[in-house]
Amino acid sequence: MTHAALTRLQDGLAALKAEHLERRRRLLDGAQGAHVTIDGQRVVSFCSNDYLGLAADPVLVAAAHAALDQCGVGAGAAHLITGHHRFHHEFEAAFARFIGKPAALLFSTGYMANLAVLTTLAGKKGEIFADKLNHASLIDAAQLSGVAFTRYRHNDLAQLEGQLAASTAPDKMIVSDLVFSMDGDIAPVDALLDLAERYDAWLYLDDAHGFGVLNDGRGGLTERARASDRVIYLATLGKAAGVAGAAVAAHESVIDWLIQKARPYIYTTASPPLLAACLQESLRQIETGDARHERLRRHIAQLRSGLADLKLGTLMPSETPIQPLVIGANADAVRLSQALLERGLLVPAIRTPTVPAGTARLRITLSAAHSADDVAQLVEALHALA
Ligand SMILES: *Cc1c(COP(=O)(O)O)cnc(C)c1O
Repeated sequence: MTHAALTRLQDGLAALKAEHLERRRRLLDGAQGAHVTIDGQRVVSFCSNDYLGLAADPVLVAAAHAALDQCGVGAGAAHLITGHHRFHHEFEAAFARFIGKPAALLFSTGYMANLAVLTTLAGKKGEIFADKLNHASLIDAAQLSGVAFTRYRHNDLAQLEGQLAASTAPDKMIVSDLVFSMDGDIAPVDALLDLAERYDAWLYLDDAHGFGVLNDGRGGLTERARASDRVIYLATLGKAAGVAGAAVAAHESVIDWLIQKARPYIYTTASPPLLAACLQESLRQIETGDARHERLRRHIAQLRSGLADLKLGTLMPSETPIQPLVIGANADAVRLSQALLERGLLVPAIRTPTVPAGTARLRITLSAAHSADDVAQLVEALHALA
């Protein structure tokens, strides 16, 4: 008996390989950090989201050990059964206070948090308005929400306003990355809030790449956005925070409603409580980590001045640790990435269709765990390859 569906998968895999679109996983040994062993090779990594170097920090490791002895490994149940540990609860309170919002809710991943917020809060007859460059998890969540889904050109608020004005949906939600993950630029938060107020909409901001980094770690919210009960804020906690999970911060009623109704919150086992204990320590490190924030700022400035006159590509205008170097053609970006790897520098090439045609790029990310020498090596290598 032939198994037609399996054969179709195999044909699909062969086609991906033939078009050089097959994705593969690099194998990491040891701890995450600025210097890692990947596929057996020791390299300086410019591609993690561990912006503060917390993922393997001894202070967090010690917090994990201490928590492990108190709470064991597994949560054992969902939050609404018996899985909601004091460590989860205390992290939520600390996070809400740090962000300046009344309440917060901890999720196992950012993907699940986005799914929960969009499917639960967009309303039965709602409409979601989303920036075209939003993260894939926001696009999937909007589609799964089943409500009308309208996209506007990147940061094009005139187009967004036209769409809001034309909408007859009783519930509206504007959804945007706060820091855009492939470009490193920052959304115009107050201008988005103006539109949310004018058209009586929610404003949901995904700060996966800004939390822990912008404003000495408090993330990309403006004071007005912190104070507004229209603004729902998401931080993911596997990037700068160095651990795992995500937290939504908002008005108490928003958080209460999510606890009552959000299926991706209710019908899943709580994350291991030891991770929440690590997150409490991570939050302390972010709050008091002036030296890390300062180092990261210096690395960003060093890279930007070092590459300002580079012939082979252009840095996008970004003040964040995401520093995309636009090369142009897919093949050129891939070749450069390989040449850097031969020099022990790991920088991924991001190609179409992930980014628009002709803007294939090296996506350089910086971390406080890098040394000035690491950054200098990358700058020199790029000049040498030019
Ligand atoms: C990484 C990321 C997510 C997903 O978060 P996870 O915790 O990794 O699931 C969501 N939104 C944005 C913008 C991200 O960059």
